[in-house]
Amino acid sequence: MTYHFETYGCQMNSAESAALALVCKERGWEEIHEGEMEASGGADLVLLNTCSVRLTAEKRALGRIAHYAGLKKKHKRNFTLVVAGCMAQRLGDKLIEKYPQVDYVMGTRQRSLFPLILEACEKGIKALLDINEEPEFSFSKSHLEEGQFRSFIPIMHGCNNFCSYCVVPYVRGREVSRDPENIIQEIRLVGERGVREITLLGQNVNSYRKESVDFSALLKLAAQEAQKNGIGRIRFLSANPGNFSSRTIEVMAENKIFCRHIHLPVQHGCDNVLKAMNRNYTRKRFLELVSEIRSAMPQVSLSTDILVGFPGETENDFDETLSLMEEVKFLYSYMYHFNPREGTKAFDLPDRIEDEVKKERLYRVINLQKKHTTELLKARIGSTEIVLVEGISRKNADELITRTEKDEMVAVPGNKSMIGSFGSLTLSSLKGNTFRSNEISLNNV
Ligand code: SF4
Repeated sequence: MTYHFETYGCQMNSAESAALALVCKERGWEEIHEGEMEASGGADLVLLNTCSVRLTAEKRALGRIAHYAGLKKKHKRNFTLVVAGCMAQRLGDKLIEKYPQVDYVMGTRQRSLFPLILEACEKGIKALLDINEEPEFSFSKSHLEEGQFRSFIPIMHGCNNFCSYCVVPYVRGREVSRDPENIIQEIRLVGERGVREITLLGQNVNSYRKESVDFSALLKLAAQEAQKNGIGRIRFLSANPGNFSSRTIEVMAENKIFCRHIHLPVQHGCDNVLKAMNRNYTRKRFLELVSEIRSAMPQVSLSTDILVGFPGETENDFDETLSLMEEVKFLYSYMYHFNPREGTKAFDLPDRIEDEVKKERLYRVINLQKKHTTELLKARIGSTEIVLVEGISRKNADELITRTEKDEMVAVPGNKSMIGSFGSLTLSSLKGNTFRSNEISLNNV
């Protein structure tokens, strides 16, 4: 039996696809990669793991569903089509009404039904699942992607924050934290299999709490286990600035295993807009947090998310975002304009901003961010960095692609045998956002 997955959206979806792929592999199924689909005549099961965060992500997934539905309808291809993830959770049966060729819609809370779908495919029958059934959310045992040196490890799921523009709490449900023993076991497993860098994942990762273990305590436990198992780096995504604790900063500062790079999504620089967004911090509190982080870890770099064109955003409000960006100087930002999502509070807010204005504001934040990124990167030429060798450059077979702890790419001469090792190098030049270095010397973790 063969399977083909297409995964859209965030790292949580990537981790969940990896966990579902492991379920297939454990049953002896083989993966058909994108490039092999035509030549092999397709897979027995196609799963689309979808995202709902933006309208464009849903449109893209709908396009792929239409493509596979067309293969079944017009070309009489016989395979099982599963739509999973956030869009499956949000639209449910409506997807099957629109595309009857979809065999199963498996929402984010129905992943535990996946083995039943596989079993039915193996037997050549259709499983009768109660798709309205929503078993209690449970974490998979492992999210290991074969041959990878970096691994995502989900530690919590869902979100209780209800930011007024966001569909996540509706499609992922309320926060659930994973047992620490389970997380530690997975860290041990991925370390034993050769993973060198882990990213602890959650929609609201620093809200993690399981009985007496909060996020900072979990970081400590994770660091101990990672160090015993050859893992040299820990990251986490996505932290909420509103509950980023001083204890978390202390734990990070005490141990270099935590990458000196934090993604801290601010979204906006103006208090009125932050309030309308239902973010749980003010501009002042965000800036205090940045200065607390920087005084504990002076080498830290920060990245963020910026949302422009929220309903009611005035030109002055928007200027406050620009001034906050000037003040903080983020290394990178994920910038987007407001896109009303049905079912969220912001969908019904008055004073929507015209598309032209939203686009123009987005253009301005992108330009400002580009300027900051280039300035910050240029200033680092000449510095010595520890990098993780991730693979061979697609453009040059004698060149390695490596990554710094600040998530920057560095190209350096080298060979395949170095993949998966840590090394030291000096940043010698910059092309676009990729550094170059003349040589690398390998380190032990
Ligand atoms: S914190 Fe806000 S933006 Fe992030 S997932 Fe939760 S509701 Fe969405």
